[in-house]
Amino acid sequence: MNVLSSCRLKRLREQTMDKKLLSMLACPVCKGELKLNEARTELVCYQDAMAFPIREGIPVMIAVEARTLSTDERLEKH
Ligand SMILES: [Zn+2]
Repeated sequence: MNVLSSCRLKRLREQTMDKKLLSMLACPVCKGELKLNEARTELVCYQDAMAFPIREGIPVMIAVEARTLSTDERLEKH
């Protein structure tokens, strides 16, 4: 496989994953909608003010692994 097609495949996979993430994943706490952060490193639930980490492309949907949002982050966008 050449570099170009490997690169394209990777991008395609990332796009597909984004869609999957957003359509399939719900917050494990409130079952609400999750938002992917800009850096694509966390899935954020604004209802609970929690951010679930994405490790190596795999979302860790466990409440104890989640980070609590700061006040600024909570007010950022809904
Ligand atoms: Zn929630």
